[in-house]
Amino acid sequence: DAPIQRKPSWIRVKAPVSKGYQETRKLMRDNNLTTVCEEAACPNIGECWSKKHATMMIMGGICTRACSFCNIATGKPQPLSPFEPYSVAAAVSKLQLRHVVITSVDRDDLDDGGADHFSKVIAATRKEAPDTTIEILTPDFRHKDGALEVVVKAKPDVFNHNLETVPRLYTSVRPGARYYHSLKILDRAKEMDPTLFTKSGLMVGLGEAKDEVLQVMDDMRAADVDFLTIGQYLQPTPKHHPVDRFVTPEEFEFYEKMAYNKGFLHVASSPLTRSSYHADEDFQELRKA
Ligand code: SF4
Ligand code: SF4
Repeated sequence: DAPIQRKPSWIRVKAPVSKGYQETRKLMRDNNLTTVCEEAACPNIGECWSKKHATMMIMGGICTRACSFCNIATGKPQPLSPFEPYSVAAAVSKLQLRHVVITSVDRDDLDDGGADHFSKVIAATRKEAPDTTIEILTPDFRHKDGALEVVVKAKPDVFNHNLETVPRLYTSVRPGARYYHSLKILDRAKEMDPTLFTKSGLMVGLGEAKDEVLQVMDDMRAADVDFLTIGQYLQPTPKHHPVDRFVTPEEFEFYEKMAYNKGFLHVASSPLTRSSYHADEDFQELRKA
């Protein structure tokens, strides 16, 4: 086990106390929904939920993989619920969201990796909440032929798949995944539907070097990725991957500048940036532009 390092002053998290937070929490409970905000112990939950911005996690709370940075439980997942597309759609409609982020655990146990279920959730949400833009944050569907096609055909507005870290660290950070496979997913999604916005993200502070981060940006741009998020990795428990260092706010600014220079349409880079942090505001802003 690696002891959890003390956080620097620039990582400040507000306690979740607001009325909006309580309402969001109740709605999630009443609809029996799982959120990555809670499961991943996201430090932004107080802020996001007070604005009713939440990231739904479909296909259960148990993942078939065990990434060393991730707080989600690993094991044998439960069967898919046929009602889930409707409960997600109902919650999105009740929350009156402008933009929703829907993600899932990795389901290597399913023949299609959960692609069909993803597409049903998108279709039900479109029907119930036609004005809400939909962002999906997907697993890599490794070894599942045709899965990506099914998800892209469901026409989400934003297709997000995180590379998470630089290729050199994959074996220790994302042992079940392959860097170039993930990159190819982003490339193929855009190729299949050029009207789709694609998005990816990185955690820093895991042991990567600056140059490696810049190389990943180039790889993403070569795959035509539109949006980028970069945030500080925080170690959820002593059993998880240790934090190598706390990246300074200045370095985050440097990454943001470099990323815009490389042609990303939108970049979020700060210590507490997460894949879905401010996703609603950022996407609305872009649509207006
Ligand atoms: Fe949830 Fe994303 Fe906000 Fe974290 S950043 S609380 S995961 S919506
Ligand atoms: Fe967590 Fe996703 Fe890795 Fe599963 S595949 S352990 S949910 S990061």
